[in-house]
Amino acid sequence: MHRIVHLDFKGAPLKVQYLDQVLESIRQWGATGVLLEWEDTFPYSGELSIIGSIENCNGDHMYTMDEVQQILQAIKSKGLEPIQLVQTIGHMEFVLKHPAFRELREEPRSPAVLCPTKPKSLHLVKAMIQNALDAQPDAKYFHIGADEVWHTAICEDCQRKASVSEHKATSLFLDHIKDLLIFLKMQRPKMNVLMWDDMLRAIGFEVLEKSNIGKLVEPVVWNYNVAEHFFVGGELWRNYRIFPKVWAASAFKGANGSCQMLSPVSRYMSNQQAWIREVQANADRANFTGVILTGWSRFDHYATLCELLPVSLPALYSCLSIWIHPNDSISSLTHEVLPENQWAGLAVARAVHSLVALRDRANQLLHGDAVSTWLNPWQVERGYTCPVQVDGIAGTANEILLNLQCLERELSAQLSYITGPRSADEWIGSNITPLVSKVSALHRQAARTATEQPSVRPVL
Ligand SMILES: [Zn+2]
Repeated sequence: MHRIVHLDFKGAPLKVQYLDQVLESIRQWGATGVLLEWEDTFPYSGELSIIGSIENCNGDHMYTMDEVQQILQAIKSKGLEPIQLVQTIGHMEFVLKHPAFRELREEPRSPAVLCPTKPKSLHLVKAMIQNALDAQPDAKYFHIGADEVWHTAICEDCQRKASVSEHKATSLFLDHIKDLLIFLKMQRPKMNVLMWDDMLRAIGFEVLEKSNIGKLVEPVVWNYNVAEHFFVGGELWRNYRIFPKVWAASAFKGANGSCQMLSPVSRYMSNQQAWIREVQANADRANFTGVILTGWSRFDHYATLCELLPVSLPALYSCLSIWIHPNDSISSLTHEVLPENQWAGLAVARAVHSLVALRDRANQLLHGDAVSTWLNPWQVERGYTCPVQVDGIAGTANEILLNLQCLERELSAQLSYITGPRSADEWIGSNITPLVSKVSALHRQAARTATEQPSVRPVL
């Protein structure tokens, strides 16, 4: 079975030099390929140049076509299979947010979903796919995304078409996907095309079978839950018997909360373990080609960054290990840390761990008993405080503040080795700066109050 590692560049695209170290690690750890989710980091050209890196829409100055080639080459040179992913109906925010493509939104207020009925839509995604295919003439695999199509048959064109279609709104989705799959087959007859499966789950067996989609695409069944909440079910595998090949997708990062900083290894291992059981239990019903270990950088285009890759490498290593040694004990395969020489971006990971501990201390101070008891908003507003009591608050705030500022400098420097200026700025601006501001304001207040005489009466 293939073991494909998903790299989600929509958020903290990796600098090529750093990526090369990661690729070397995952080769050693037993991956067989890499799924590249470019999103707005691909150098789309011509009429598409506004959506990608040519006009630096992502702010990270990544990637140039030279860098794309270097990445594809680096993957191949390590014996890994590169698979490009281009979204083709859902998660099209990076395209449909642009005024030039606004008219192709299914729901006018949301840039997430492409209208599958308007002729320009098909033209648009075909051009995107063509750009990606041109970059990889020897592609053996391609992934068309197609997950989480949140709005269906909203626009007038779609409503009209759905009303006269055999399977109503389902037909719109299936027709769009089939058009793309046929286009891909004509371009590259031998290429294997993959898609996320969630939009297929509610479609009955007869409809799926009649659509002939089974001959054109390999569904990637994703489930990122821990074992206690993991359920895929027999009916899905019975329906998916129309597909000669199926894939599983688990997660090693970015599936544990939309603004998490750390990747709990045991949580992601539990998901792998559940998948291994599912694959073993259904081996006679489905022909599993491989597993894609997804590593999400954001929950969607507008969501903030979640776990950074350097932090998640122990989880990735452990998750790959369990697929290679499914019969070993889970505790022997779970590694919270890696040897220093195998941990690319170790300094970032260390600093993030320190920050999480410091953030806990800061929140305990900001929302803790000492502030609520001796320096709460009423007391501050009415000037009714005692310096001895707030002196301790000032001291603790000062210590936390100095440590936060030190980590801010350290992370600014270290993030610049692994990602671009926008992602580094965003991560620090989202995770450190607001905390620095709050602790700093508390420190100023406490330090000032600590120099005053004990108040005589509240100023009412
Ligand atoms: Zn529509």
